[in-house]
Amino acid sequence: MAENVEVTRSHNTTPTAIPPTNNAHLLSSSNNSSSPSPNSSTHPSHPSLHHSPPPLHGHEATFVRPADLLRPRAISRPLTPARSDRPIDRDERAGLKAIRDFLRVRTCYEVLPLSFRLIELDVGLTVKESLNILVQCGIVSAPLWDSTTSTYAGLLTVTDYLNVVRYYNLHADKLKDIDSLLLSDLKDVEKVLNVKAPETLSVSPEAILYDALRKQLVSRARRIPLVSYDSDTQRTMVTSVITQYRILKFIAMNVKETDMLRKPLETIKLGTYGKIVRCSMDTTVLDVVDEMVTKNISSVPVVTTEGVLLNVFEAVDVIEILKTGDYGNLTWTVGKALSARSQNHPGIYCCSFEDGLDTIFETIKKSRVHRLMIVDDNNYLKGILSLSDILHYLLVEGHEEPNQA
Ligand code: ATP
Repeated sequence: MAENVEVTRSHNTTPTAIPPTNNAHLLSSSNNSSSPSPNSSTHPSHPSLHHSPPPLHGHEATFVRPADLLRPRAISRPLTPARSDRPIDRDERAGLKAIRDFLRVRTCYEVLPLSFRLIELDVGLTVKESLNILVQCGIVSAPLWDSTTSTYAGLLTVTDYLNVVRYYNLHADKLKDIDSLLLSDLKDVEKVLNVKAPETLSVSPEAILYDALRKQLVSRARRIPLVSYDSDTQRTMVTSVITQYRILKFIAMNVKETDMLRKPLETIKLGTYGKIVRCSMDTTVLDVVDEMVTKNISSVPVVTTEGVLLNVFEAVDVIEILKTGDYGNLTWTVGKALSARSQNHPGIYCCSFEDGLDTIFETIKKSRVHRLMIVDDNNYLKGILSLSDILHYLLVEGHEEPNQA
């Protein structure tokens, strides 16, 4: 299965074979330029899959890029001067219209897989207990349930743990009480930090997907809890939570017109290019967490002094550190934290300015992508493409084909 291919590829590139004491080699991988691509034999028609990137000024061995094959040169398109109504423009508009039409006739419930599990946490649990449950279940977020009122009490996400980290960093004297901090106390943590409470958006499972997504885009929510109301018992019930990835995968699997979205990211100005928050292997995790909370972002690229991308520190990496129960570990450097990552980490997905959403949707079909780093041919970081950027373009920014009279 395609998904397994990606996972296998990722295993070849995770930072497992790395001496943990030497930051300079923390992220070395078997996927350096001298190794043949693990997939090369399965794609003989794509000579570019054998492509070896040019030397990275001594950083070849530290670059983790399992999705090297995302932009095979054979199908990357050179930029052409913009003209008003080329076939590529018409196709882009038609592709966007097909996606929006599809979302307008689908309900949120349809996004859910045939079988799924729902893990709901009671707000009476301690933060420590919740962390153990998330780690044991391999999830990074869960709906909260208030059993005293039998109501849905919001969504617990990695941002809550980042807030807890910041709180104890500012109030080290309170660290002794950390084990008794309850999920219901998180509201107080937000108040002390003066950060906005998490978005409480929720929709009915029967809501039209297009409407739910428009609602999500104007809020700060990155996931949509599906909450239904039982008129017999007059109680609400959480059915599931849909993520941005699941929605994009749903589109990728069901709308063939995604292959019409060929306009390069650079042309459609998709992604963030200016003022990218970055860090080095020597930055402390605490400093990165501060940046993520204040800038409201969920990842920070790790780059060399020259700007070559080495890896990406993600908000979920903090869970891995906190699960040890030792908050002192947050003084670790990013390099050390990345070396403690699970061997199953899927790695970093990259693309170029010249990629269109068509190739990106192909990757989304096959792999659990959280975001893509936009790099040039020498792996210099140029931009970041988040899943919310893609959804925003699909629903709001891109111009769709007008309805024919
Ligand atoms: P999530 O990844 O949590 O599901 P998301 O898809 O919104 O949420 P974020 O990382 O929160 O992704 O990105 C929010 C916005 O900030 C996007 O427009 C993205 O391009 C931009 N962004 C992401 N990371 C950075 C960064 N390190 N520096 C600057 N901008 C960033």
